[in-house]
Amino acid sequence: MYKHFLFVLIVALGFTSCHDDPTYRVDSTLNDYLQRFLYQAELRGKTFNLKEQGLIIEYGNLEDNVAGRTYYENPIRIVIDKPYWDNLAKYSSADEMREDIIFHELGHGLLNREHINDYLPNGDWKSIMCGGTVKDNRSWNINYRSIRRQYYLDELFNPQTPTPTWATTTFTGSTTETAVDLDEFNTALFWPTGINTNYNASVANGIYSFQNLGTAGTFLVRSLPLQSTADFYIETSIKIVATSADTQCGIMFGNGNTPISGNYFNINNNKRMFMGNSECFGWYTELLESGINPNDYNTIAIRKVGSNVYYYINGQCVYYDQLTINKLGTDFGFEVAGSCTLLIDYFHVYSSTLRAAVIVDTSVKQPIQMNTNKGVWLNK
Ligand SMILES: [Zn+2]
Repeated sequence: MYKHFLFVLIVALGFTSCHDDPTYRVDSTLNDYLQRFLYQAELRGKTFNLKEQGLIIEYGNLEDNVAGRTYYENPIRIVIDKPYWDNLAKYSSADEMREDIIFHELGHGLLNREHINDYLPNGDWKSIMCGGTVKDNRSWNINYRSIRRQYYLDELFNPQTPTPTWATTTFTGSTTETAVDLDEFNTALFWPTGINTNYNASVANGIYSFQNLGTAGTFLVRSLPLQSTADFYIETSIKIVATSADTQCGIMFGNGNTPISGNYFNINNNKRMFMGNSECFGWYTELLESGINPNDYNTIAIRKVGSNVYYYINGQCVYYDQLTINKLGTDFGFEVAGSCTLLIDYFHVYSSTLRAAVIVDTSVKQPIQMNTNKGVWLNK
């Protein structure tokens, strides 16, 4: 009996010392995302025996503005930048951004994928494997949400995945929209005017000029008898006067009361457009748009039909998305970046939805300072 036990013990020790299993160590707070990845892999017929092949996923402090990095060691080691990861917790987009980082690194580590910085027909990044060398001086923010997630996951596991339909969708239906608000800015009864420490705003020659004297961006809105959940069409013509071509301004709709939640559609004088929600970290995506006239007036518009949103620049439908955040609100207007002047020729709002008889607040709303970060997603 004793001899037998000793034999087993020796054999067991022998195995431990001769067969050095690669380390398998995944931080418990990152494991949830690894398990999601394995689930998505399994759905597509890919399985991994990670305990056998080993894997390390851990936090660290990465330099060079990097959110995550994969080291091709034995075993594969993935490091996630802890300050960046923790900071995301404040935002509604935290979970999807965290998933995007982990899935991207696992794309490197487990799928042997390299960076690919191609675009889809609508200008979106083709893959969540975008990263590395900067392209077109464009931010890495990727619209990895809603109906788009399914495609990006398919593409991650199969780079030959066909172009998704949403990348070519434009508005083709018809609507019967009636005017809710037609501001021509011969006067500015419903908008802030005057000079104070925050702004310098006035109307002249049919143009409303709003100079944001603060450094933070603001939402400049008026309350309309229209819910943000209704179907509507907003159109404006704006000109951005700013020292930096990166300064972005545009239109927004949503809820200007605390906690602020506004869906915005911005442009800049560098021929870029941005879609996003103020609850999220940075914009959903930044797109190159050749149809923008820098340092001049541009007509920009949003059409919302159900949860579908269509974005227009100078009459062209340039982007399609589905709303994922749309807090009930009646605020419609503009986003004005800090330290710039927005010139507004007109602001028109139409709706095809019967409007509830809500009491409308006709008082002039003071600009709403945006408390959220317009940060860019870090490289990975
Ligand atoms: Zn990468």
